[in-house]
Amino acid sequence: MACDFDISGVSMADKKEECGIFGIYGDPDAVQKTYFSLHSLQHRGQESAGIASSNGELIHCFTGMGQVSRVFRAGRGVLERLNNPTAIGHVRYSTTGSSNPTNAQPFLGEFSQGQVAVAHNGNLINAPLLRDEYEAYGHIFKTSNDTEIIVHLMAKPTHVMKPDPLGHVLNHLQGAYSVLFLFPDRIEAARDPYGIRPLCLGRTSNGVYCVASESCAFDSIDAEYIRDVEPGEIVTLDKNGVSSRFFVAPGTVTPAHCIFEHVYFSKQSSVIFGEPVHDVRVRSGRQLAIEHPVDADIVIPVPDSGTSAAIGYANQSGVPFDMGFVRSHYVGRTFLSPSQDMRDMAVKLKLTVVKSVVEGKRVIVVDDSVVRGTTTKGKINSLREAGAKEIHMRVACPPIKHPCFYGVDFPTHEELLANQKENMEEIRKFLRVDSIGYISLEGLLSCASLPKDHYCHACWSGQYKIPVSKVVNKFSMERHQMQLFDEREME
Ligand code: SF4
Repeated sequence: MACDFDISGVSMADKKEECGIFGIYGDPDAVQKTYFSLHSLQHRGQESAGIASSNGELIHCFTGMGQVSRVFRAGRGVLERLNNPTAIGHVRYSTTGSSNPTNAQPFLGEFSQGQVAVAHNGNLINAPLLRDEYEAYGHIFKTSNDTEIIVHLMAKPTHVMKPDPLGHVLNHLQGAYSVLFLFPDRIEAARDPYGIRPLCLGRTSNGVYCVASESCAFDSIDAEYIRDVEPGEIVTLDKNGVSSRFFVAPGTVTPAHCIFEHVYFSKQSSVIFGEPVHDVRVRSGRQLAIEHPVDADIVIPVPDSGTSAAIGYANQSGVPFDMGFVRSHYVGRTFLSPSQDMRDMAVKLKLTVVKSVVEGKRVIVVDDSVVRGTTTKGKINSLREAGAKEIHMRVACPPIKHPCFYGVDFPTHEELLANQKENMEEIRKFLRVDSIGYISLEGLLSCASLPKDHYCHACWSGQYKIPVSKVVNKFSMERHQMQLFDEREME
């Protein structure tokens, strides 16, 4: 049976990005700017995309399956129909809820206080429990993703009556959430008290405020990064400009920023958690060279997410840097049979070896991470076929041994290479490399600027800062879906 095998991921390393969100208030080109920004955030999710916009009274929403350029392709008039001065957008990889059109975001709902559209990045670990509770009281859900529960919480009459209804609702959520709420007259941007996923505030050259998962979204629309939305903070964009309030008092929760954002998910050009991603990656490459030196002729990255670390490794070691792989940016989603041969072929399609760079050389290959190991093995095979004399694998994060409950889709425990193999020597043999070295957790944490206990590193250490023991992480149910009041692409 044919299966859906996605080869559009950034490094094909078997981990999937979560989602990207963007919002802008009061700009005549708000929808066009949202469209451009979603392009910049495309690396965070390629399964679906959507934009919701408001004219001050009514919200209109359009979502569809596939990449931004496909969902909003020219000639369909979608952006024209959405054209309003305030908008939020979303690109999605499904971490909770299946991959189908009804789970695409923004999620548009209507309750006693009017319309609201929600765009969420993260994973609500208590969503299944809340959903069970609300269904028991007769609530009807129209999607299988965790974001919808937020709207049901907002609609609860006792919540609506609170002095700060949104802050009250957010206090019911557990897990990771950077989330945008579009009301007809404003945008509210909120981040969970641990600040697990990034969210930042920017301003365009014409003085309009915007918010985004990563600052790279601002670069494409001539906006500047101002600051991060703080953990536990709600930032409001409305006719009065920007205002802020906290639903959890600052300083009462030790942050747990996902350090995998620095390792892999975020774009090199972004500033997240207050510092440039590229700089952290270069430092991790330097640290890797200190921890795992080796005699070699060249250092090559697995592009794109391994490139900054490889530069750091080369700088520290004095071994010349070169581009041994060229990445094709034009390979989209492909449907292949699940055989290893086909996977290897897909790796070659995505990453081509530059034979003249590696032939006859002792090569150090720097990658951001190794997950299952199967795609890494494919890359190593390609280097051998191209005539590399020795291959030394260096990995810019520690061995991944634990699942993520906060919005990143890793394979199961059993599928993770670091769990399958007893020790480093077994991993080395499996990958068929001459040597292997992973950066230590201490070493990685020392490359980022915040105190070490301000980061989440559970996928390496197993230390989950938000307890997950009683929570079922993923919805398994497929539910009858129905179209209500939002326009969806159903091709
Ligand atoms: Fe990030 Fe890993 Fe923590 Fe998940 S478990 S939030 S991927 S550091």
